[in-house]
Formats: sequence, C-alpha cells, structure tokens
Amino acid sequence: MERSFKHEVEQLKLGDGTTFRGEGILAVTKALLQSGVSYVGGYQGAPVSHLLDVMVDAEELLGELGVHLETCTNEASAAAMLGASINYPLRGAVTWKSVVGTNVAADALSNLASPGVIGGAMVILGEDYGEGSSVIQERSYAYAMKCSMWLMDPRPDLPSIVHAVEKGFELSEASHAPVMLQLRVRACHVTGEFAAKTNRRGINSGQNKLAGPPRFEYGRLAHPPVIFTQERLKIEQRLPAAQKFIRDEKLNEYFNCDLSDVGIIVLGGLYNGVIRALSRLGLADLYGEARIPIYCLNVAYPLVPEEVKSFCAGKRAVLVVEEGSPEYVEQQIIVELRRADIQTKVYGKGCLPRTGDYNSEAFINGIASFLAEAKPAGIDADAITAQAQQMLGHKAGAITSVGEVPPRPPNFCTGCPERPVFSAIKLAQREIGPTHISADIGCHSFATFAPFSLGNSILGYGMSLASAAAVGPNMERRPIAVMGDGGFWHNGLITGVASNLFNKGDGVLIVMQNGYASATGQQYLPSSTKNRSGTPTGMTIEQTLRSFGVTWLRTVRTYSVAKMVETLKEAMRTAERGLKVIIADGECMLARQRRIRAEDAEKLKRGERVTKTRFGVDDEICTGDHSCIRLSGCPSLTVKPNPDPLRTDPVASVIESCVGCGLCGEVAHAAVLCPSFYRAEVVRNATFADRFMFKLRRGVIRMLGGRPREAAAEAAT
Ligand code: SF4
Ligand code: SF4
Repeated sequence: MERSFKHEVEQLKLGDGTTFRGEGILAVTKALLQSGVSYVGGYQGAPVSHLLDVMVDAEELLGELGVHLETCTNEASAAAMLGASINYPLRGAVTWKSVVGTNVAADALSNLASPGVIGGAMVILGEDYGEGSSVIQERSYAYAMKCSMWLMDPRPDLPSIVHAVEKGFELSEASHAPVMLQLRVRACHVTGEFAAKTNRRGINSGQNKLAGPPRFEYGRLAHPPVIFTQERLKIEQRLPAAQKFIRDEKLNEYFNCDLSDVGIIVLGGLYNGVIRALSRLGLADLYGEARIPIYCLNVAYPLVPEEVKSFCAGKRAVLVVEEGSPEYVEQQIIVELRRADIQTKVYGKGCLPRTGDYNSEAFINGIASFLAEAKPAGIDADAITAQAQQMLGHKAGAITSVGEVPPRPPNFCTGCPERPVFSAIKLAQREIGPTHISADIGCHSFATFAPFSLGNSILGYGMSLASAAAVGPNMERRPIAVMGDGGFWHNGLITGVASNLFNKGDGVLIVMQNGYASATGQQYLPSSTKNRSGTPTGMTIEQTLRSFGVTWLRTVRTYSVAKMVETLKEAMRTAERGLKVIIADGECMLARQRRIRAEDAEKLKRGERVTKTRFGVDDEICTGDHSCIRLSGCPSLTVKPNPDPLRTDPVASVIESCVGCGLCGEVAHAAVLCPSFYRAEVVRNATFADRFMFKLRRGVIRMLGGRPREAAAEAAT
C-alpha cells in the first residue's frame, strides 16, 4: 500500500488512562485489540477499508499481541476464517463492504451460523446504504434474520461503538452465535473520543498456541444429519440466550422524557439523525435531551420482546425509524404487540419514506407527520408541522430558481491508465461496429459515464465474463468483457475464465492490470509486484491464464492506443475460437503519482535532477473540433477562448493538473485527429547539458521561425 497510517497505528497502542481521538472505524480497530482478538481478516471496500489498511500498517503491534492478520482475496475467504471460532475459544473479526460483500460471503456465513461458535466471532459490516453509496441498495438485515446471526447497530458515537464491539464478542460467546456489527458511512466517519484500554492478548493466539484439535465432534460440522439439530439449537437455545444477554447487559438504550403517550423506536445507527431532527423541531436540546421517549436498538436483531412491550405499554403511538424496505423491525414490533394484545398504534413507513437513506429532510418530515397523526398531549402538532414546512419549504423555490443542475458523475483520475482502453474501444468500434460490453465493478466502471458511455450490464465484482456467457452465442459480434485485476482475483478467474474455458466459450476479455485494488485505496493483490511485507508475490495474471489453458493472450501497454485498437480488432475478427484475453497493463496513476511525488521530493532535497512530463496544445494548430476531449474525457483537457481574432471556436487547452500520461496525444495520433499536441519536459535542478540543449533548441526554433537575430543573440549567450 502506498499510503502510510503511522498516526493511526500510534492510536492503536494507547492504554489505560489515555484518550483515543479519531474516526469511528478506527475506534472499531482499537476496540478489537482491546477485546483480545486472535485473528482479523477481511476484504477492503468503503466505508471499512480503513480498518484493514491500518491493521496492515500495525503488523508489528499485531505480532506482539499474537494477532494473525489475513488480507483475503474475497469476502467468502474472509467469512470462512471465522471457522476458527467454531471449535476453539479464539475471538476473531472479519470485515467487508455490505451488502455486496455479504452476498459473496453468504455460503460461508450460513455454514458458520449453523454449528455456531465457541470463541466470539464478529463481522464488521460497512453498511453502504443510502446517500453516497456505491452499491445496489439492499440492507444486510435479511442475512442476520435468515442465518440467526445477531446484528448490532450502535449509536454513531465512539464510546457506543467501542462498547458494541466489546460486548458483541461477549454476546457471541454467551449465545454461541456469530455477531454482525453494522456501521453506516456516517458512523464510520463520525469523529470523537473514548477512554482507551490497554490491548490484550487472546486466550489463545500466535503467542500462546493451542496444543491441538479438540476431540472429534460431529455436531460441530455443518453437515447432515446434525444440521437439523443445529436449526433447533438456533431457535430454542441461542436466540433466548442472546435476548437474555442483551437485556441483562442493557445493550439497547431507553431515553425517557417528559412526554409519555408517544415514543420513537430507532435503529442505533439512525439515532443521531433522529435527535438532530428533534432538535431542529424544538423537541430536543443540543445535548440530545429530547422531549419524546426513545428506545434505541443498538442490537437491531434479535429484538427483545419484553423490552419492546414495556416501552410501548401505556403509549398511544410509537414511530419506528428504520430505513429501506421491507420494514423488518416494524413488522416484528407489530407482531409482538398484537401477540401481547397491546393496542399501541405503530407508525413507520408512510410517515417515513419506504426507500432510500433517511437524510435530514426525511427525518424532519417523518417526525412531523407522525406527530400530526398521533397528536400527543403536551405538543402542538400543528405548530410542529408548520415549522417543518417552513424549514423545508424553501427547497422547491430553490430548485425552481436554480433550474436543473447538470449531473456530475464520478470520473477516472487524471492520467488513469484505464481511460485509454476505452478510447481504444471507441475507436475500434468505428470499424468493427458496436458490440455488447460487459462491464464490471472497479474504477473501469467509470467508463459507463460520458464521454465513453460503454457498458451494457454490470452483474457484480469479477462477473463480467460470466455475464457475457449467454450473450455471446446469441449475438453476431463477440462481446467484450472488461474486468480489473482486483475483480480477476476476487471472483473472475473461476466464475469467468474457468467457466468460459470449460464450456469452450468464445469472446474477448480485457483485464485491466493496474497493480492494485485501486478503487478501494490501492491495496495489494496477488499480481501486485510485491505483497504487504514488501516481498514479490510471485504470481502473475499472465502465468495464471496460461496455466488455465488460455492460448490467445496479448499484453498491451494501456497508453499505446493505436496498438490497443489493432489488438482489439484482431481479437474481434480472428477466426480462432475460444477465449481471447487482452491484459491492459498500466500502473494506477494515483498510486504512481503518490510514489513519484515522494521520490521526487527526496531527489530535490538532494539537489538531483527531476523531470516532469507535460502535454500541451498549440493554439495556432488546434481547429477547435474537440475530438480529443470526446475521446479521452481527461479532466485536464478543457477549452479556452481562441487567441486568433479571426477564429471564434474555442481551442483545446491542457491545464496544470496534467500528469503527462500522453493519452491525448496518443488519441489524436490513433484517431488521426490533429497534430496540435506537443510534449514538454519540465526540468528542475537542470544540468549543464539540459541548459545547453534548451538554448540550442530555442535557437533553432527561432531561426526556423524567421527570427535569426534573436537566434544569434541566443547562441552568443
Ligand atoms: S484510482 Fe487508479 S485506476 Fe482508479 S481511476 Fe484513479 S488512476 Fe485510475
Ligand atoms: S491532458 Fe493529456 S497528457 Fe495530460 S493527463 Fe490528460 S490525457 Fe494525459
């Protein structure tokens, strides 16, 4: 990894009597070490990448504590690690982005939850739902219910988050069930402080190894016939044990207030939003003291029926605050109240939106409509409604006055090595015609946005080739599947390549080999030049594909647009059947720039020569047709007024952020667009030879430009 987390690692070393300050996700990392974990693993993805990244940099500390760290190749392998807790008193935690990661891990999770665990087993889920999310909109709640895994959802507040981690392990051990701890994007990035505790070693760990396996016990296997007993154990023993622990340890919180005939039941992760909305409506102060009683579910699943009933009893109405659909919690609460013949009216969806993230507007509207319906004693509901309307009413006016704001989709970084491949696909399609593009998850999915707008389907991480399997045989032209090296190792090798070869499939696969899991923060991959300890991985995509039996295989430098166009045309037109793989090779520019910047800074300090390549457009030659912009989409390419008073079209211009990747020039050349691009080198700490060559070149240019007197003066200096 190119980034360093030295400061964060220091925070992980804090002990009793000190105060930890930082982000929610880092607090989780510290809480794991305070809880005596023996192993940690996971697969990176926002918003929890930070957890693993910091752990990687803290390997020395982990070694002292005997904690094993595994940077897994996908979420299934991370979930399978928790199998260590089935038979042994080992506490362990794994992490990934949900719901997509949980989908990948689902098989292992079912097989873990069925026999249950002895040592505390925890999954830290980055619940990427709602505003700012980058994955399909589903919630992880269903997995907790179907597997009988408990789902913690702590209030976004550092002491609550740390408490949830520590108690989560105890809950897992008391009920012999794995625990999931979900953190939404805002909870991961909430900042605060908590009283740190000294890290502790696990009962068994790398520093205190287990003597050997336990006596063989068939009941610990997720296998028939014991799976039938295990199903009963989940419901008859583990569930009541979990509910008792949650109740005894007061994991859920009550906030009692002056009003008593209404209440709010809120999932822990949404508590801050509710309090903020109540505060804006004049129903809570800035310190969170609210007028409406709140029951905060820091454990979202399972519910504790006794707690639900005691909170609702005597209230005319409650509002259940739970984002997304189905309304799992609302339904369960209604069932519990009906069974107990408690007549409290339950509001939820209807007052609150059925789908999507609950932002400030949703909370304010939801609470105001609940109060308007429930009309609690002691609150002027009409005044609250008027206040909500006044607070939010300006939005419609603002939209009308501003007009439609154009969408601003995400884009490749400046100089990204993947952008040229899509320029090449566009150019190749001019000759071979349009074909089905099977897109994938990763930075390359930005090509689905303008100016490329390439991609007819995305079916999951590493799934592009597999998702083209049925398209190819039904289409005249071969489909092109695009996959990153991250997706290749995550899933694509088996799901796509092996399946294609096994089925004697046809088609074209482009593997973007940028050297890292770039979209998640440049983590190392099996095909990176080195692993996290700095030693070569010894694995390459090329070798792997050849060993699988791929015979049509080309590796092309991504920036060589003309060569990429030719290779693509060849792959599309060759009579040879079978899978054709193009490895598009080019290091992630973000990672490269980070590395080069640091190296250059060192060289400059030593007074050494440093060069930087820049591209530019000659204003006099640019015709202003802007094909270069349409074919590359580089954010450093823009337009400026034409300096020629006789020409009105704005000319293309390269701005300061250019990293000199050369794509614009390559595209111009490959597309036979125009000769207006030039390449320049900015030299710092120039040598005598540099200065001499500079003067010589300038002199020659002036001479050829009809300024011999200036050229002669140049030569004389
Ligand atoms: S992170 Fe790397 S691979 Fe991803 S868009 Fe940026 S330069 Fe390209
Ligand atoms: S302006 Fe051209 S050379 Fe500079 S980063 Fe963009 S595509 Fe690369």
